[in-house]
Amino acid sequence: MNLEGWATFTDVSYASERRRDESGMLPVPGERLGRLTMAGEPVSGATAGPAGQAVMYSGLRRAEDAATKGSGLKTIQAYRFALDLTPGQERDMYAHAGAARFAHNWALARVEAVMGQRAAERSYGVPDEQLTPSMPWSLAGLRKAWNAVKADVAPWWAEMSKEAFNTGLDALARGLRNWADSRTGKRSGRRVGFPRFKSRRRTTPSIRFTTGPIRVEPDRMHIVLPRLGSLKLHESARKLARRIENGTARIMSATVRRDGGRWHVSFTVEIERAERVPGRPQAVVGVDLGIKYLAVLSTGDLIANPRHLVTAQQRMRSLGRALSRKCGPDRRICRRPSKRWQRAAARLSRAHARVANLRRDGLHKLTTRLAREYGTVVVEDLNVTGMLANRRLARHIADAAFAVIRRQLAYKTGWNGGRLLVADRWYPSSKTCSGCGAVKTKLALHERTYVCEACGLVCDRDRNAALNLAALAAEFNTAGSGPVAARGADCKTRLGGQVAAKREPGTASAGQTGTVPPQGRTTNTCALRRTER
Ligand SMILES: [Zn+2]
Repeated sequence: MNLEGWATFTDVSYASERRRDESGMLPVPGERLGRLTMAGEPVSGATAGPAGQAVMYSGLRRAEDAATKGSGLKTIQAYRFALDLTPGQERDMYAHAGAARFAHNWALARVEAVMGQRAAERSYGVPDEQLTPSMPWSLAGLRKAWNAVKADVAPWWAEMSKEAFNTGLDALARGLRNWADSRTGKRSGRRVGFPRFKSRRRTTPSIRFTTGPIRVEPDRMHIVLPRLGSLKLHESARKLARRIENGTARIMSATVRRDGGRWHVSFTVEIERAERVPGRPQAVVGVDLGIKYLAVLSTGDLIANPRHLVTAQQRMRSLGRALSRKCGPDRRICRRPSKRWQRAAARLSRAHARVANLRRDGLHKLTTRLAREYGTVVVEDLNVTGMLANRRLARHIADAAFAVIRRQLAYKTGWNGGRLLVADRWYPSSKTCSGCGAVKTKLALHERTYVCEACGLVCDRDRNAALNLAALAAEFNTAGSGPVAARGADCKTRLGGQVAAKREPGTASAGQTGTVPPQGRTTNTCALRRTER
């Protein structure tokens, strides 16, 4: 297994990553220009955002700024490391995760009770002003309510970090807000249900630390978290440590989470990235994503689809069968799972985690390569959710993780001074002839070779599509978006609550920790101007 998998360079918090992948959409707003969308919109030099709004500069302006003010490109990034915990430390982690769950469930029960009480009173005809006062749904409100009762409902509260309770209450506040926004139509996408109680067995244990001593020890093999103290890392944190030492990184929060049978710590870090130029700034590459080949480039490169899931399928099947033979949990008769069942379940989850690690490693290598080399990358906006409805292909499409590729390309092109163009999802990239531009009305999936009736071009189907995508870049340049679009890189970031959010003062040593936006709003490319902070 590639060790890179353990200390992966991830870009967003888990919650938002999962949400994006499900919807299959890129969260970056785009400027529509015919059938092309630029991932993010170019920002001209004169229109830097209003105070407090983060704006990533377009090429020229950014370079000029870096020279005059010494301010680089600030982005929020995550560094994730596997932990090697002692049994005692693992118990502490579970205890903290349990405290988070406890606070969440207590507050949810309280919210539901108050809602029920008010509904009942209303049904008796009690006027609105005499109803039981409603429970605040904000994090601050929930925290206040929790602090008022914690001594009674959780006399053990002082044994835990306050961040544990905060994690649970924050999750509830976001859940309630998402539900309310989804109901009123303020939030798009799939409908969000009312928050449910967290179960000890089903919830992923996770705690997020936002204040207190959070740091990487000088040996780079240990980290320090509030209350939990020094924890050993599985792999050196040198990449993060180097950045902290030379002052280009500031840890904003640390999340400890158990997934894939291991504990991981994920640091949310504000990074000042150096100005970069892709290896070939003028070069354009069209990328056609597919299943036979993961990607076909307009340059003729074929990137094999590693199909990690297919490779692992046989082992997973046998592990799944072994699991089903063991004595599992049964809620009807309150049967607890046997130790053997638990071990078998852990083996199966390790197998799944391995697939995920291999996939992530390969995708990062591919997208980094593309973004470092080419000035312009053109991809297609694929309707992944729609494609997943195809039951024969769904597993393979999900395994290929198209949406992840696109999201990674979007921010990595930004980091490297390139740009990502996204073709409209109705653009007939496969049906168009890359030689003469004739468009076929029909092209069956099994026709792997494109044969043009108009000019006689014979070309591989995917290569043809990639060439069409690459050709779109020229069209985008002449569409009147000017030199900024031709040169500039950039993703203007949707900032959401990040700026307006209330911030807690960091209490740790300077340069190590800081303040954090509420979880779940971490944007992948967030550039903050130093002067505005
Ligand atoms: Zn043709």
